[in-house]
Amino acid sequence: MQKETIAIHAGYDKKQGNGEMSVPISQTTAYAFRDAEHAANLFALKELGPIYTRLNNPTTDVLEQRFAQLEGGAAALCVSSGQSSIFFAIANVASAGDNILISDKLYGGAVTLLTHTIKRFGIEARIFKVSDASNLEEQINDKTKAIFFESLSNPQIAVADVESIVSIAKRNGVLTICDNTVASAALFNPISWGVDVVVHSTSKYTNGQGSAIGGIIVERDGLAEFFKENAEKYTEFTQPDPSYHGLVYVDVPLPNFCLRGRLSLLRDIGAVQSPHNSWLLIQTLETLALRMEKHSANALEIAKFLSTNSKVKSVNYPGLESSSDYDKAQKYFKDGKSSGLISFEAESFEAAKTVINSAKLFSVVVNIGDSKSLIVHPASTTHSQMSEEELINAGVNPTTVRLSIGLEDPKDLIEDLEQALS
Ligand SMILES: *Cc1c(COP(=O)(O)O)cnc(C)c1O
Repeated sequence: MQKETIAIHAGYDKKQGNGEMSVPISQTTAYAFRDAEHAANLFALKELGPIYTRLNNPTTDVLEQRFAQLEGGAAALCVSSGQSSIFFAIANVASAGDNILISDKLYGGAVTLLTHTIKRFGIEARIFKVSDASNLEEQINDKTKAIFFESLSNPQIAVADVESIVSIAKRNGVLTICDNTVASAALFNPISWGVDVVVHSTSKYTNGQGSAIGGIIVERDGLAEFFKENAEKYTEFTQPDPSYHGLVYVDVPLPNFCLRGRLSLLRDIGAVQSPHNSWLLIQTLETLALRMEKHSANALEIAKFLSTNSKVKSVNYPGLESSSDYDKAQKYFKDGKSSGLISFEAESFEAAKTVINSAKLFSVVVNIGDSKSLIVHPASTTHSQMSEEELINAGVNPTTVRLSIGLEDPKDLIEDLEQALS
């Protein structure tokens, strides 16, 4: 099936229940078991079915199946936010004493989570260059559990050298995790390039209207074989789990990564997505492919306008032929469409603030991926917790203005930016 069709039909049988055309919301905390044996079978995984909404929910299940197919994966696991999808993906494989390799161009929340918070759990993050992976392999050792990067990074809008990262990871038996939030499942599918695990903040383009926070983890088919081949390293999957009756995940014929994420992490940490948010995301997913075409077309037009404006020092948009990431965007993204994020450098810190304060149609918001166009000054907002050195390493300059281009008519957006810059 093609993506547009999957996004509308996969994972839901209209002939079930009352034949509802709109996927019903299972707004429930728990589920009645038929009898004690039924309950025991569910807990022992002899039978699959809902137990308690912290573990699974029929509405969330539809979204998980749909999203897994959309990303070309074997299974998906919804969590309460993009941040928790990153935390779960890392915590699923890494423990105290391990290290992970993270891209030098990441979302600010991912940077603080991966360099500060998980350090307190004894997991060390080492930084590699995502544009060409040149210093990746030399930092890998037998304690390296994962390589984490964003396919199209927020806010630097850098395109990862996915092919090089994946080939180094495969050569060294290290799991790859790609945050595909900005590119979206409509424009790019990391799994088709050999990535093992994909995470998303569904709060962004997947939702598309800024109406729900959510996160999702998708795994590729065949991860059990990968864990078995690297059995000494991925003992979480190859050794008995004392917290689940000694279950050995690689022996279970279900996609392992999401299974452990659900039975262990979701059970214990509880960052569960509400069924209502799953339902909202089911609605918005239906138009994802259409919206990404329009976001990308609008952004390209605005990036072209900005590159001709005398008050703009430089424009960063991978869909522009002048961009150093243009070739990678053409190679990886559907028809070279590069999503809706643009950043540009104003003439000074003050000039950047003036543009933000003068724009009328653009709302000053830290979110991205909304149908409404948004403008932000990362140095004073999303990335304000970072030190100057971290800011520079992450490519966030004091003069950087970031735009998330919405679905309005681009003529109106250009007119607004023109007056804000003058
Ligand atoms: C927003 C964002 C996140 C965090 O997602 P939340 O849903 O806000 O928790 C993670 N990664 C990227 C690339 C993001 O843009």
